[in-house]
Order: sequence, then C-alpha cells, then structure tokens
Amino acid sequence: MKKQFAVIGLGRFGGSVCKELYKMGHEVLAIDINEERVNNYAQTSTHAVVANGTDENTLTSLGIRNFEHVIVAIGDNIQASILCTLLLKELNIKQVWVKAQNQYHHKVVEKIGADRIIHPEHDMGIRVAHYLVSEKIIDYIELSPEYSIVELMATEKVSQRTIAQLNIRAKFGCTILGLKRGDEVIVSPTPDQMVIEKDIIIIVGENNDLKRFEEEGL
Ligand code: ATP
Ligand code: ATP
Ligand code: CA
Repeated sequence: MKKQFAVIGLGRFGGSVCKELYKMGHEVLAIDINEERVNNYAQTSTHAVVANGTDENTLTSLGIRNFEHVIVAIGDNIQASILCTLLLKELNIKQVWVKAQNQYHHKVVEKIGADRIIHPEHDMGIRVAHYLVSEKIIDYIELSPEYSIVELMATEKVSQRTIAQLNIRAKFGCTILGLKRGDEVIVSPTPDQMVIEKDIIIIVGENNDLKRFEEEGL
C-alpha cells in the first residue's frame, strides 16, 4: 500500500531515507532549507521544497498535518532538530522519527515525544562489528537486548538437508522464518524444506542460541 512520508533535512541520512521510500513507490515530501540540496531531490521525491522545518506556519502551509509519518534528519543544528520535532508533535503527527546526534539530543527529543530515535553511525557500527566477526552473518536486526533476527549463509555442512533433519528448533531453540535463494524467497518454510549451500537463512532466536547455531550448527 502506498504511504505518505515527509523527510525534513536532506543530508546523507535523510537523503537516503527519501530516495529509498520513493524507490519503493511511496509518496515523499522532501524538505530542506538549502536550495541546492532540494534541487538534488527533484527527481527522487514526489515534491521537493525549500522550507525551514522550525517555522510552524511554513510546516502548516505545506500540509504537514496530513502526514502520518515524518522523519526529522536535521543533523548538526540540534536546536533546529529539537524545535522541529516539538512542532510536529504539537501538530499531532502520529509518527515522528528523529535522527539523533548524541545522547543529550536523544534525551530531549525523547522527552518531547519523538516516536523513534535513530543513531545511524552508532547502529551501523554495531552491525558492521557483527559482519566482521563472522563471514556467515549477512545481516542482523536486534529485536530486544536478548532477541535478534539474523541472516546467515548456509554452508556445505547443512546443504541438501531438510529443516527437520537439521532439527534446528529442538537443538538450538531458533526458528527459521525464511530462506533466500537467489531471487526466490521461501517464507515460513515447512520442516521438509531442503536447505542448499549459499541459501540465506533468516532465523530468529535468543542471541546466545543464534550464536551457538552459527558456530556449531553451520
Ligand atoms: P548526514 O550525516 O545525514 O549527512 P549531517 O549530520 O551532516 O547529515 P546536516 O548536513 O547538518 O546533517 O543537516 C542535514 C540537512 O538538514 C542539511 O541539508 C541542512 O540543510 C538541513 N537543515 C538544517 N537545518 C534545517 C532546518 N531548520 N529546516 C530544514 N532543513 C534543515
Ligand atoms: P515442532 O513441534 O517444533 O513443530 P515437531 O516435533 O512437531 O516440531 P516437525 O514440525 O516435523 O516436528 O519438525 C521437525 C523438527 O524440525 C523439529 O524438531 C523442529 O525443531 C524442527 N523445525 C521445524 N520447523 C522449523 C523451523 N522453521 N526452524 C527451525 N527448526 C524447525
Ligand atoms: Ca553527519
């Protein structure tokens, strides 16, 4: 389903969010105070406008109230980011996601109602560390401090064996959510589903169990 988003601040982070949402077919209103930045997004957003995200009248006249989801990606100017977040929450925007610059910034926007706070450099650093430690880990999503979803590359060891034969849930307490095989995605595989070397195994579980599976099961 097509959704509507507004992205305020078109730096590297906001810019990537904007382009990717647009690529996925969603409607994206791209906003920045810098005209040159805005011009760069004319082709990769639904509307790109030069505007100040800290000006309430401007936000209102852009019809920002009609957006359920706004991303505040104003970087270095923490004051502007905070004020913009405050205005958006006052305008009753349901989902305001904010790129935080540091812990102080995080605390303030959390207090004024930001619905999700993102630390791209910090989060990406953690993910990269996980990829570095194991070449089997393709991707990693932390669900909570205890649970994660990981994408692991199937090795020769598990190749040509069914999920039931591998007995993953009983042995490791982890559940396979899906398999990616080239362009094909096998969602909710049945126990008789065969695993083949180089399949990407999407698996959910407790971090310790996932680690055991990665080290001993693969
Ligand atoms: P990134 O790391 O994502 O590249 P950054 O941390 O370097 O971003 P900035 O470049 O400081 O962040 O800010 C991101 C964008 O936010 C810039 O393009 C800037 O013009 C824009 N911006 C700053 N203040 C405002 C404002 N009040 N309203 C709208 N956009 C703003
Ligand atoms: P369960 O009650 O866990 O579904 P079961 O004993 O009824 O298992 P099957 O459903 O046929 O038997 O599965 C055989 C084995 O395969 C089980 O021991 C289970 O641990 C494992 N298994 C089945 N599906 C998955 C899955 N999606 N991810 C990981 N392991 C699985
Ligand atoms: Ca930056």
